[in-house]
Amino acid sequence: MPLPVILAVDGHEQSLSDIERELDDRYSRSYRVVTVTTADDATVALEGFAEAGEDVAVALVSLTLDLTEATELFRRVRSLHPHAQRGLIIEWRSWGDGQTGDAIRRAMAARDIDFYVIRPAQSPDELFHQAVSAFLLEWANARRVSPHTIQVVGETWSGRAYELRQVLGRCAVPHAFHLADSPDGRARVTESGNGNPLPIVIFPDGTVLTDPTNLELAAATGATVDPQHREFDVIIIGAGPAGLSAAVYGASEGLRTLVVDNGGIGGQATSSSLIRNYLGFPRGVSGRRLAESAYEQAWVFGAKFAFMHDATGIRRDEDRLCVSLSDGGEVSARALILATGATYRRLGVPELEALVGAGVFYGGPVSEAPTTVDEETYVVGGANSAGQAALHLAEYARRVTLVVRAESLDEGMSHYLVRQVEGTPNIDVRLGTEVVGGGAGGDGWLERLVLRSRADGTTETVAAEELFVMIGAHPNTDWLPPELARGEDGFIRTGADVEDGGSWPLERSPLSLETSMPGVFAAGDIRHGSMNRVSSAVGEGSIAIRLVHDLFAAEQLHPPERVQP
Ligand SMILES: Cc1cc2nc3c(=O)[nH]c(=O)nc-3n(C[C@H](O)[C@H](O)[C@H](O)COP(=O)(O)OP(=O)(O)OC[C@H]3O[C@@H](n4cnc5c(N)ncnc54)[C@H](O)[C@@H]3O)c2cc1C
Repeated sequence: MPLPVILAVDGHEQSLSDIERELDDRYSRSYRVVTVTTADDATVALEGFAEAGEDVAVALVSLTLDLTEATELFRRVRSLHPHAQRGLIIEWRSWGDGQTGDAIRRAMAARDIDFYVIRPAQSPDELFHQAVSAFLLEWANARRVSPHTIQVVGETWSGRAYELRQVLGRCAVPHAFHLADSPDGRARVTESGNGNPLPIVIFPDGTVLTDPTNLELAAATGATVDPQHREFDVIIIGAGPAGLSAAVYGASEGLRTLVVDNGGIGGQATSSSLIRNYLGFPRGVSGRRLAESAYEQAWVFGAKFAFMHDATGIRRDEDRLCVSLSDGGEVSARALILATGATYRRLGVPELEALVGAGVFYGGPVSEAPTTVDEETYVVGGANSAGQAALHLAEYARRVTLVVRAESLDEGMSHYLVRQVEGTPNIDVRLGTEVVGGGAGGDGWLERLVLRSRADGTTETVAAEELFVMIGAHPNTDWLPPELARGEDGFIRTGADVEDGGSWPLERSPLSLETSMPGVFAAGDIRHGSMNRVSSAVGEGSIAIRLVHDLFAAEQLHPPERVQP
């Protein structure tokens, strides 16, 4: 296999030679470093790599080129090598200069570049290498060539093989999938010893699991523990941003903390390809990366995690709160934090439900997007999450069609996203339209969709290879007892909202995130009136822990007087 290419383009000989030196010194054993001085030469090189089937991992283009030329070149990189990471090389501190700053902001908003890189100075320039390494990691993840990638082999894209891929995704484990009758699939089956019923999961150390349960798979990746001790100070249910934040603060402040999740880490955030509005991440951060770091942070402080466990109910036993789990066990704590967020609404079209995993996907396209290269892709939904998904997919797919029930994008999407969607040439928008049917081709993968106009009821069958469904969410509260007060939308009431509804049983007032069940708090998207943002979920997770401390302190100093039911 030819080495993947790192391409650098800079109009100044000296500057290009500094870049070449740094790239050669550090990466030439694993990558082919190619440097050119003009956009024309770069275009010829890019076309040559594409023709020869050579992969471009990173393209660095300096602002010594004319801005229009650089922008055109980045677009060419994107169309010929969609997995390549694109960095704009600038001079140190030149982002303060109005023109350069504008160029960076515009290029990022139009998704022409992934980020900027400061031209290397003295050697070795670790700041430069930090940027290049980050690009290489993103590229390796998108190309499924990162180390420790787990291989899944199955007979079809959908069904159990898809569920296993989802478990790996939720445990933030890099993985790749192969159909059993593909050349790669056949090779993997042979390597693993023929005869195992499919699907199989092959670990980098050669371990093979045959159709493992979700729990076995999560345990094998090292992502979960069975709660050996059954008593904790605080149990957090849900490992999305709110739950992970509560875990970090709870464990770091000395509370024996258990986090229970029916999947893995990150919740809805893992379906966000690039969270650009989270504090401290100027180049944006993928939901998955944020969740991995938060999980590691909570783990280092001593939080325990029980993944692939459904919380099925809660009850009070004297001064303890008990949570029943889907494995039949029960864990208890002095306080609970509910952080179970929300789940995507289903389309309710039976022929498309049968294709989930085989071209039909619920939620964000982070893990599937890189496989949509050159394909006809549809996104259903009119809110920000659908807009973000369409933009992300447009970097890979030939064409992305956004199917929206409303008559205008402005009805459900932030203005900045509407502008980006409308400004992206390979995104089409079909307003006033619904997806009402579809079907697969001979290979079992999605092949067509049936769209219906809401205005006159006419239907049209269109060719489609991927459908991403993002049509709103409903709260994950069905498992909770009815005594927990909810809003009319089913989300959990907290604080003054509970008191106003008359469902609060004690003389003291509820604490601000406390539910109608004293000692049970709610944080993040599960809460009635929540902000539906990663940052607000994270903020509420930390506040909930502060309130748990307040509750414990108040109970010791002034035991609350319980009102007789
Ligand atoms: C595609 C997409 C893009 C987004 N982009 C952005 C963005 O750019 N910026 C931004 O600020 N926000 C964004 N959001 C919103 C943000 O992700 C959510 O507001 C945030 O994830 C809410 O966090 P949470 O912890 O409250 O709940 P969730 O993230 O929903 O996590 C809840 C967790 O609880 C688990 N769970 C549910 N029921 C149970 C049960 N019974 N037992 C055990 N576990 C259970 C779930 O599996 C899940 O892991 C985006 C959302 C989506 C879907």
